Amino acid sequence: MISRLHDPDYDRWACQIKRTGGCRQPIHLRGKVEHYDQATGHLLHRYSTSIEPNGILRVPCKTRRASRCPACAEVYRADTYQLVRAGLVGGKGVPETVSSHPCLFVTLTAPSFGVVHARREKNGKVLPCHPRRDAQTCPHGRAMSCTDHHSADDPQLGEPLCPECYDYDGSVLFNAISPELWRRFTLALRRRFARLNGLTVKALREHAGIAFAKVAEYQRRGVVHFHAVIRLDGPDGPNSPPPPWATTEALTDAVDHAATAVTAQIKTLERTFRWGTQLDIRCITMDGDLTEQAVAGYVAKYATKAAECTGTLDRRIQPLDNLDALPIRDHARRLIGACMRLGSQPSLAELRLTHWAHMLGFRGHFSTKSRRYSTTLGELRAAREEHMRTEDFSTGRLPLFKEDTVLVVAHWQYAGQGLSIGEQFLAAALTGVRLPTISGDPR
Ligand SMILES: [Zn+2]
Ligand SMILES: [Zn+2]
Ligand SMILES: [Zn+2]
Repeated sequence: MISRLHDPDYDRWACQIKRTGGCRQPIHLRGKVEHYDQATGHLLHRYSTSIEPNGILRVPCKTRRASRCPACAEVYRADTYQLVRAGLVGGKGVPETVSSHPCLFVTLTAPSFGVVHARREKNGKVLPCHPRRDAQTCPHGRAMSCTDHHSADDPQLGEPLCPECYDYDGSVLFNAISPELWRRFTLALRRRFARLNGLTVKALREHAGIAFAKVAEYQRRGVVHFHAVIRLDGPDGPNSPPPPWATTEALTDAVDHAATAVTAQIKTLERTFRWGTQLDIRCITMDGDLTEQAVAGYVAKYATKAAECTGTLDRRIQPLDNLDALPIRDHARRLIGACMRLGSQPSLAELRLTHWAHMLGFRGHFSTKSRRYSTTLGELRAAREEHMRTEDFSTGRLPLFKEDTVLVVAHWQYAGQGLSIGEQFLAAALTGVRLPTISGDPR
């Protein structure tokens, strides 16, 4: 910390750190950018990292995971919020009339893989977990009953009453196949909606479209479920109104049907997977219980979380890792163990369970949307970078060129990542973000 403070380049370093917005693990880049006049070939401007402290430019890591970098995850969360919100009320190139389109907020859950400890509430009162007067005893001698009133932070929540009885294989296989199950759900939904209105899927496209934005969330038991915004449009996406017969009721019917009907198989194991029976379909309205803002906030919140909330590791499991020695709860260890064991079977190779063991088998994207839902994260980022560049112009860092007459030649090299512990203290003071808990872990 002291050497950084006394460095003659300190001001420049501090400026870089401020621009990363408090990123905990900035990427170090070495390289240069040259701007040439396309007509004459004259070099107009050159920027090289050789003028930067240690010859390095520090840029934000842009992770979406709050456990890795709260500052960048916050940017991602805010972008996701804007993206979901634009699809509900308009903005970012989406017309405001979109708010009159029928729109549902749907939660698709996973089936049960065994009884787990749960916190149940009714009228603000916590109910007993899983009370059974004449509880059966499982083959491992455990009574299948729990009369505890679990607190919200009870680490037992989501853990099975009997780990030996729990279907760990089923749980990680469901996570692995859930993106396919989602894909089939969207196809079945379109098919059903078309048929309800006496059309083929192809003919439907000429009258109406169905747009999605979805986010995956891990439940405490370590299995993913999906929250989705499902909206009806006209043939030209959010820019056109849906026909009068494309109603909320018809959409609800189609969602209900598709969620119950679709299956996905793992042929080599002769196992068929489907959604759980807890299907939640709610109407999104401007003034009702479930407002656009609430939905956008909800989806964005889950976009920055991953499996670590279920007590697994925030990094890939290495082949040499000693599973027994990892600092995780037994339930997560068994889920990871199931991934490692199933992942070593050649017939399941394509599920890449070993690679995604730390995600408990899920290898899908956390937030996805259909092409016509609203704007994209890329466009939002480009808009922000454009804004940063305008700032650069006004601070004299880059000269103002006409875009189409300039040839940009850039050459960048990855030169590492992160901040030393001393630098972390300085960065926290400069950007006002929370300091990470410093542990013995060198990552
Ligand atoms: Zn970051
Ligand atoms: Zn319990
Ligand atoms: Zn048992």
